Amino acid sequence: RVEASVIYTSTSEDFFQILVLLYDVTEIYAVEKMQMDFLSNASHELKTPVTAISGFAETLQAGAKDDPETLNQFLDIIQKESKRLTELIQDVLSISRIESQSVTKQQMTELDIAEVVDEQLRTLQQMASVKHIALINQIPAGQIQRTDEKKLVEIIKNLVSNGIKYNRPEGTVIVDYEATPHEWTMKIKDTGIGIAQNEQARIFERFYRVDSSRTKQVVNGTGLGLAIVMELVQSLQGQISVESQRGVGSTFTVTFPIKQVE
Ligand code: ADP
Repeated sequence: RVEASVIYTSTSEDFFQILVLLYDVTEIYAVEKMQMDFLSNASHELKTPVTAISGFAETLQAGAKDDPETLNQFLDIIQKESKRLTELIQDVLSISRIESQSVTKQQMTELDIAEVVDEQLRTLQQMASVKHIALINQIPAGQIQRTDEKKLVEIIKNLVSNGIKYNRPEGTVIVDYEATPHEWTMKIKDTGIGIAQNEQARIFERFYRVDSSRTKQVVNGTGLGLAIVMELVQSLQGQISVESQRGVGSTFTVTFPIKQVE
C-alpha cells in the first residue's frame, strides 16, 4: 500500500518539475488493523462475562433466589464469570502496557537464571500438585544473564503455567537452559496434550485458543498468555518458537541475545 504527497513543483517555459514522495504504508496499516482487531475482540471477550453476570443477577432478583439450589448455582456462575473478567482485564492491560513501554524503559539487571526459575516454580507448585505434575528446573546455578527481571518472570510464569494447564495428570514440566557466546536459550518442555502442526503458529495470536472442545471447557484461559509472552520476548529482542506433537507434549524455546557491556 502506497501513499503519495507532492513536495515541490515548479514550471518554467520548457518543462514542468514535480517532486512526489511515495511512502510504503503497508506496515502502518497492518499495525492499525491489528490494533482495531484487538479492540473489537477485547470488547467482545469482555462483554461475554459481563452479560452472564448481569443476566444471572437479574434472574435471581426476579425470583430465582427463592430456590436455594438455583441461588447457589447462579452465585457460582457469577463468581466464575467475575474471575474470568478479572483475568481478561489483567491480560488486556498487560498487552497495552507492554506495547506502550519503550525499550529504553527496560530495567536490565544481572540475574542468576536458575534462581529466577526456581522462584517461579515455587509459586506454581500448588497449581502443579493438584494434577500431580512434577516441575523440574535443570538450569545449573550460576548462569548469569543481563535481562529485565519482571519481563523474564512473566515469560516463565506464562509458559510454565501453560505446561501445567495443558498437561496430563502425573506429567512433568522441565525448564532447561543453553548458552553460546552470543545468545542464551530457555526451553520449557511439557508432557501434555501437544499442539497440532496447523495450530502452532496461531497459538501466539491474541485471543486464539485451540478449539478442542474438551480442553476449552476444562482449562480456563483468556487466549492472551502467549500473545503477551511473544510481545515480552520481542521487546527483549528475543525469539520464541514451539515444537510439539499431539499426545506427546510441547517444547517452547525462548532465545535472547547476549549483549556485551561496553
Ligand atoms: P490460554 O489463556 O488459553 O492458555 P495462551 O495464549 O496461553 O492462552 O495459549 C493459547 C492456546 O494455545 C491455548 O488455549 C492452548 O490451546 C494452546 N497451548 C498453549 N500452551 C500449550 C501447551 N503447553 N500445550 C498444549 N497447548 C498449549
